[in-house]
Amino acid sequence: MDIAANLTDIRRQIDATCHDCGRNPDEVRLVAVAKTKPTEVVEAALTAGQSIIGESYVQELIAKTDQIQAPAEWHFIGHLQSNKAKYLVGRVALIHSVDRLSLAQEIDRQWGKAGQTANILVQVNLSQEASKSGATEEEAESLVRAIAALPHLRVKGLMTLPPYCPDLEEVRPYFRQLRQLAKQIAACQLPNVTMDELSMGMSHDFRIAIEEGATLVRVGTAIFGARQPRPV
Ligand SMILES: *Cc1c(COP(=O)(O)O)cnc(C)c1O
Repeated sequence: MDIAANLTDIRRQIDATCHDCGRNPDEVRLVAVAKTKPTEVVEAALTAGQSIIGESYVQELIAKTDQIQAPAEWHFIGHLQSNKAKYLVGRVALIHSVDRLSLAQEIDRQWGKAGQTANILVQVNLSQEASKSGATEEEAESLVRAIAALPHLRVKGLMTLPPYCPDLEEVRPYFRQLRQLAKQIAACQLPNVTMDELSMGMSHDFRIAIEEGATLVRVGTAIFGARQPRPV
């Protein structure tokens, strides 16, 4: 697995897609999703110049942030149980997956205790798939309004994880819908809320996501190869 070559290839595809749709490539940041992958693999990515690493499991994020000395910007992108939020304090620059007020309140409490402010995205489930987390499209605005009242949180935008669509054109409406929703929420001009970030797009569909306005693409398999089943 040549991680440096894969990163170069993805970055090149990001730049080309931006060029084709008239966007500035600097607006699109690559989150290298390393869940289930060993520490050495993350180190290889950092050595190759990658700066943002995405993790989905709290235990793994703790282990890797403890072991890896090289500077990195860690993002948490997975489902987060409220009682585990405290372990992320001081370790993550952005949590992509805040999907309910109780979780936001716990993050607010834990970051507040540490005298810090957490940057978060609100995860929206646009497809209503029961297996996926996320506020519904209807709930999203009121959830952001409620979170805006929490002093130790800053909402930076929205995140979504659409259903897997083999036909890439079928996924495009979800990305477009997320951008529309962000626009609608931005128009409310809530305190502590900006809608600058749209976290959308994975290995197979990040180009479509970029065409629809993604600012953070979360790419795992195309950089690190297929994943093993989740470790217990
Ligand atoms: C695993 C994961 C990704 C990366 O998926 P790939 O298909 O491997 O690129 C992106 N986002 C989330 C939320 C994930 O859990």
